[in-house]
Amino acid sequence: MRKFIAFAYLLLPLFALPQQVKTPIPVTEVAHNVYRLFVNNAVAVVAFKGDEGLLIVDTGYERTANDLKEKLSEVSEKPLRYIVNTHIHGDHTGGNQALGNGVDIISHQNVRDYLSRDKVQGERSMPALPKFAQPNITFTDRMELEFNGQLIQLIHLPSGHTNGDIILYFPESNVLVVGDLLFANNFPYVDVGNGGNPFKYFENVGWIIDNFPNDAAVVGGHGPVFTIEEYGNWKSSLEKTFDVLREHKLNGLTAEQMKQQRVLKEWESFGKFFITEDRWIDTLFPFL
Ligand SMILES: [Zn+2]
Repeated sequence: MRKFIAFAYLLLPLFALPQQVKTPIPVTEVAHNVYRLFVNNAVAVVAFKGDEGLLIVDTGYERTANDLKEKLSEVSEKPLRYIVNTHIHGDHTGGNQALGNGVDIISHQNVRDYLSRDKVQGERSMPALPKFAQPNITFTDRMELEFNGQLIQLIHLPSGHTNGDIILYFPESNVLVVGDLLFANNFPYVDVGNGGNPFKYFENVGWIIDNFPNDAAVVGGHGPVFTIEEYGNWKSSLEKTFDVLREHKLNGLTAEQMKQQRVLKEWESFGKFFITEDRWIDTLFPFL
């Protein structure tokens, strides 16, 4: 009997498992036929629909891919024709495998290089994606894609967030999709280990602001959709943190002392998402 009870307890968690919780993916219309799907209220996927089918920019996490797929079928009944990956990170490429079968996948050349090799990160090993989930159309500088009546511009901006960042501009919709060159209302993550640089990051943001219409909608990888003006304000606010930290460094403070003194307290609200005040200090310190 005791044996049976022990066995029953072992089984209990199996029966008590709640129904699989669906990922929240709120959908907003950014422009006619252009939607933002905000996967788990954390990472943006952009969907562009039309007669020829569906194009999406980024694919969210691996674990949210099936829920994303379901949401996309509500956005358009047409088949998915193109996936564009703005850069290498798993919250932007994780759904490639679930969504990419039979679909053309476009990215910068460095993104394909990264996704096609086995990687070890600390204790975690990340195998290469299967061939069909890797980008099959790549470029190094610029490309244009004519789809659903728009000549979509894809532009590589070097060494900002990673070494393979691309942005997209949809001219008829007047929508810019800038990937992780925007963490709206937050400190950005700069992946220095994969070729990112905080100075180049904001240089690239400045280039985007200068080269597209000032009434364009800006969809970043994280945070709300911005106007060009808001994008500019975000940039200037963060560039002030460079000055603050540089001055403290000149006065002999170490990164640890800056953290203890909370020298970026004024930017407190920017530290609530992924990169905290302390991590932003660590990011900038070696570059000052
Ligand atoms: Zn990223």
